[in-house]
Amino acid sequence: MLLDHVFLLTTFDWLLLESSAFRVVDLTHSQGVTTLYWPGNVDFNFTILARGQTENFWLEANWFGTAEHGGTHLDSPSHFSQGQWRTHQIPPSRLIGPGAVIDLKPQAIENPDYRVTIRDLEKWEQSHGRIPNGAIVLINFGWAHRYPNRSLVFNTNDTENSTTFHFPGIHEDTARWMAANRNISIVAVDTPSVDSGQAVHFPVHQIFGRNNIPGVENVANIDALPVTGSTVFVGVIKLFDGSGGPTRIMALIDDPCQNNGANQLSNGLPFLAFALLTCLLNKY
Ligand SMILES: [Zn+2]
Repeated sequence: MLLDHVFLLTTFDWLLLESSAFRVVDLTHSQGVTTLYWPGNVDFNFTILARGQTENFWLEANWFGTAEHGGTHLDSPSHFSQGQWRTHQIPPSRLIGPGAVIDLKPQAIENPDYRVTIRDLEKWEQSHGRIPNGAIVLINFGWAHRYPNRSLVFNTNDTENSTTFHFPGIHEDTARWMAANRNISIVAVDTPSVDSGQAVHFPVHQIFGRNNIPGVENVANIDALPVTGSTVFVGVIKLFDGSGGPTRIMALIDDPCQNNGANQLSNGLPFLAFALLTCLLNKY
């Protein structure tokens, strides 16, 4: 039903979107001069080419330059696996899917080097059902509020030395299990890497790469998502031959009835009535 709405945008659908019948959650940190990179990258470059009044109109235009792997970004499978998909080759159907949010904030507070276990996923499935086919799995370590503070995100005073990094990630056994036993489209984390800060040789990157599973790193705002019941869109730049790229990641909450009534009221009573009607029509 939801995907129909996205792909067949009739006048009615536009009305639904316009009336905020769907709640949209932005999971993206802004790209700009504060964008955070792994050591060895060049800083973000934002250069104003024009910003002012011309004789006839106001004009703004800028130039920007960025490494692929900075801020909220996607790792293409080719990043750590020869011959696998580069950025422009990732099928669009793999960039949209049902969100599955795995909350491991308590574990990360207790141990900043925590690595997601197979047991964590099994426990999740006991409560919420099997990870759906084509899922976008989002792992919430509670790390996003540290962004873009370099020392806090890498959790070290020596931010140029990656051997001192201490942030949570995924255990390689878990990555192997995910690739072999579930049909997962993308794995997203709110830390700078799907591997933990202390991992050596990036085993999780290698495993996901070999299995054509892209990763998304430095995701924001996962707290705003329900555990299930969202559709996540991973809008990576379609960079030809890229090993990754800056990404706008967003989610639609599937059930419009979860929408905030106060928002609708602030748009006026007709919008509130329309949203309630939409909610009922979608439900029954
Ligand atoms: Zn990356």
